[in-house]
Amino acid sequence: MASSTANPANHLPYFFGNITREDAEEYLMQGGASDGLYLLRQSRNYLGGFALSLAHGRKVHHYTIERELSGSYAIAGGKSHASPAELIKYHSEEADGLICLLRKPFNRPPGVEPKTGPFEDLKENLIREYVKQTWNLQGHALEQAIISQKPQLEKLIATTAHEKMPWFHGRISREESEHRILIGSRNNGKFLIRERDSNGSYALCLLNDGKVLHYRIDRDKTGKLSIPDGKRFDTLWQLVEHYSYKPDGLLRVLTTPCPQLGSENDNIGFNTYPSASGTFPKSWAGGGIISRLKSYTFPKAGSKKLQSTIGHPSEEAPFNPYVLQRKRGPTEAERGDQREALPMDTEVYESPYADPDEIKPKNVTLDRKLLTLEEGELGSGNFGTVKKGFYRMKKGAKPVAVKILKNESNDPAIKDELLREANVMQQLDNPYIVRMIGICEAEAWMLVMEMAELGPLNRFLQKNRHVTEKNITELVHQVSMGMKYLEENNFVHRDLAARNVLLVTQHYAKISDFGLSKALSADENYYKAQSHGKWPVKWYAPECMNFYKFSSKSDVWSFGVLMWEAFSYGQKPYKGMKGGEVAQMIERGERMERPEVCPTEVYSLMKLCWTYNVDDRPGFAAVELRLRNYYYDISH
Ligand code: ADP
Ligand code: MG
Repeated sequence: MASSTANPANHLPYFFGNITREDAEEYLMQGGASDGLYLLRQSRNYLGGFALSLAHGRKVHHYTIERELSGSYAIAGGKSHASPAELIKYHSEEADGLICLLRKPFNRPPGVEPKTGPFEDLKENLIREYVKQTWNLQGHALEQAIISQKPQLEKLIATTAHEKMPWFHGRISREESEHRILIGSRNNGKFLIRERDSNGSYALCLLNDGKVLHYRIDRDKTGKLSIPDGKRFDTLWQLVEHYSYKPDGLLRVLTTPCPQLGSENDNIGFNTYPSASGTFPKSWAGGGIISRLKSYTFPKAGSKKLQSTIGHPSEEAPFNPYVLQRKRGPTEAERGDQREALPMDTEVYESPYADPDEIKPKNVTLDRKLLTLEEGELGSGNFGTVKKGFYRMKKGAKPVAVKILKNESNDPAIKDELLREANVMQQLDNPYIVRMIGICEAEAWMLVMEMAELGPLNRFLQKNRHVTEKNITELVHQVSMGMKYLEENNFVHRDLAARNVLLVTQHYAKISDFGLSKALSADENYYKAQSHGKWPVKWYAPECMNFYKFSSKSDVWSFGVLMWEAFSYGQKPYKGMKGGEVAQMIERGERMERPEVCPTEVYSLMKLCWTYNVDDRPGFAAVELRLRNYYYDISH
């Protein structure tokens, strides 16, 4: 999982990551070095850039692919392309300056992943540590938070990562910085960065022939950092990375970070940073870094509620996550500097029973006295109604949604259905699935669940046309994470549809409605229904209709329809068609068309989910990974 996720080349089999020019040559020689054999690697000169290594005449030629300001890619002086992959495709048809055509990719040998640069590894550690300490998470909850919120977390980290760097010496005087650099080795290019004031102004101190040079690093109005007349960077570490590769106006390149002798930071270096399994050098909370994080990461007021919970979730008074929720998405202006609530900021990210003080009631039966119901309905169905309420727990009243059975019907089958639903929900615990708090038998049978205030995804999108493609991708990716969890635990949902995905916030989706769900027995990976029921046939795979067989793979089919609904902003699938007509259309090999705003990558995944043959259809593990990579790509 420690891959450099947002890299637009990571999915390419011939991309080797941050390997050296020499490594590339060795690989191509191993591969026979036939004319036109090539591989792609990360540029070590240009941030976000690449290098192309191409064999010709028993020699390897290297070309730098720059990432242009517009975000496109080009070999210096050449044509621009939307992605490294497109550039490669172009040059396999046109030499256009290269020594020969790109004829054959040299793919990574089995088991070789794209190599991550030292900062990538560091970033993984920083993110993990940040999430652990900020939201007090561990285990699955921690991993799921990182997977679903990686792009957002990277942004949060980027502005603070320098504090972990050996070259960052904090607020020391000019004299002290010279003193530190001149101790020990006096290599040219030895450097450190010090803080000049608390307005975000720094100085780069660099050893050149026994003398220490000081370059100011100022922050402009937009927050970008630069030395006078130099290139501008979002973060100090990018600046350092850049000037480590080329002088670009400095007297020389940065070579060795000046160590902080005797300090806790001794043991961390750019290249000696412990791996993912290594220990973190010092506690963020203990080192006071969290308090600094607050001012760094969320400099503007406006989300005080949010700020106050960062770093101390358990010490502060319980806060109401619903303060952060909006009936409609924020406008551009509202968004401003205010950070969107992440799933981990809400009260429903972890189970209330994850709290060791909160004891799960026996048989999950709840005390009616602790439950209050509000007027009005959140929804209704054959079974009865869903109401909003509050359930009193150790840490305060928890907003809940309560499914209440009609009393008058007196139909024991309906009660059994509810109890079966409760029985399934009781066994599930995942951030992207609505959890059951318990059941309550009083004036009626009641199923008490976590509240997802913004309601069903299809209705939300119908009313909120401004929601971006990226936002929708984020949400359906979360659904795929919840479904992957169900698949791993051998449950089939059987009613996966946009109406049964509920939103906690505009950026946090949960799967709900386990009324048709089944736990699979140990010996079969599908559930066989006895007869045709009241089924959502437009969401059902052919094997469900033809053989009454339901598996995680048939949920994958439904997930394809769900994605179609989401990217159609809540439109009904197969509009105007009857169930039978839909089945015929599928049998003919036809599928729904691409919704207007749906990215082609997502549409091809939809069609993959609608693979006729169960065995050829991907499972959720594969679907989730595809969506994850796509989401990271577009978030960069
Ligand atoms: P049905 O089996 O009738 O589809 P659902 O479980 O889907 O029942 O619930 C019906 C409606 O009640 C949903 O569409 C939604 O509007 C509301 N609802 C259900 N559960 C919740 C919840 N946990 N939070 C908020 N609203 C909910
Ligand atoms: Mg429903």
